[in-house]
Amino acid sequence: LSSVELTECYVDRMTSLNPTYNAYITPCEELAIEMAKKSDDRRKKGISGGLEGIPLAIKDVFCTKGLRTTFASKIMENFVPQYSSTVTERLEQNGGVFLGKANLDEFCMGSMNTYSIAGSVANPWDISCVSGGSSGGSTATVAAGIALGAVGSDTGGSIRQPAAFCGVVGMRPTYGWVSRYGMGAFCSSLDQGGPIGRTVEDTAHIFQAICGYDPKDSTSCDLKVPDVLGMLTRSVKGMSVGIPREFYEASYSQDVRRYWDQSRAILEDAGCRIEMVSLPYASFALPCYYMIVCAEAASNLARYDGVKYGLRCHGNTLEEMYCNTRGAGFGPEVKRRILIGTYILSHGYYDAYYGKAVRIRNLIQEDFVKVFKNVDVLLMPTTPTAAFPLAQAPRDPVTIYLNDILTVPANIGNVCGISVPCGLSEAGLPLGIQILAPAFEDGRLFQFGQVLE
Ligand code: GLN
Repeated sequence: LSSVELTECYVDRMTSLNPTYNAYITPCEELAIEMAKKSDDRRKKGISGGLEGIPLAIKDVFCTKGLRTTFASKIMENFVPQYSSTVTERLEQNGGVFLGKANLDEFCMGSMNTYSIAGSVANPWDISCVSGGSSGGSTATVAAGIALGAVGSDTGGSIRQPAAFCGVVGMRPTYGWVSRYGMGAFCSSLDQGGPIGRTVEDTAHIFQAICGYDPKDSTSCDLKVPDVLGMLTRSVKGMSVGIPREFYEASYSQDVRRYWDQSRAILEDAGCRIEMVSLPYASFALPCYYMIVCAEAASNLARYDGVKYGLRCHGNTLEEMYCNTRGAGFGPEVKRRILIGTYILSHGYYDAYYGKAVRIRNLIQEDFVKVFKNVDVLLMPTTPTAAFPLAQAPRDPVTIYLNDILTVPANIGNVCGISVPCGLSEAGLPLGIQILAPAFEDGRLFQFGQVLE
């Protein structure tokens, strides 16, 4: 099969199915065919990258030179970047073909993919259900077979949670492994791009392509890139797996508990030692996360002022122009976080809120360091429930934030994680199980993921 033939097949599927799922904000059929032709030329010359000719979806938070990049926001609706993100550049260098820019929650804030200027994404398993978010467009493209793989970003679960809801594999790399250059900033100290695939192996190929030092990102780590493809065949026999007691004792649906126990049994059968472990501060990860992301978002989003780029609304004074532009350009969730963030960073409140959250973050990181002295990985569900119908989606923000209770500990704790499908709920919707590993031990995620698949 040539790259053009494969791409044509995916372009056809995308054209006929995307109106149902709304997984792409900007499909780019012509660019895809052009990239596939270049891939075939390379193949003729005997050159083949790790993703040669593979049709991919790109979360619309990664800048792509000459191709509209919206962040799912009205304020950047017509933004055409002058440069590409390192992630998309590396995908291209490895032979990847871009089918289009995938839908997301505005500026990656959300967990249902309902806060998007392009409208919500339908879950391919049941189109009346949410896809999860914020990388719901990316995970839905893979689940619906309108991309072979995708990239998303995971600041607080935005790859793993929608991957679980859509029945695909999604991974949050260790912070610093994947360059943030050219990726729309939401919460710079937590934002991390990562791969999404139908299988653990597919996901490993995408990770291998995007991982590695980038001098254009000051927080990028200059370490030797691990051979994660090599880890796929490595046995887990004799390794140890921790079950975080605090989460295990909380109440979840029967489905979630059943698959957790089942995954544990699979690992036991594979020769792993299972141990109950304790993460005493992890229950504070959720409030701590929302303090930190609101503070950083308020600061990062100050750049959208109608002057440098994006939407500009008329005003009689500069201040009026700022207010009109930001008032019309940002959606309700983004505004909520800017307001909360500005409040908690203001004089007199900074230490009570932001300072305290940073101290708790350190305690949670220490919890993980301690636990990983005794076990190689942790095993826990990705989400408290399966995907739910859009019509029954919670409306109050705090209930929505509670969706993230099982994903944010990894981000705040500075560890890496992967979500792998583990079975279907009673309603026939997919559920995911997570493996968490210490920072820079991302290879272990693939090693264990392969066993659980
Ligand atoms: N649900 C989280 C939030 O709204 C996820 C964010 C993310 O990982 N981008 O902040």
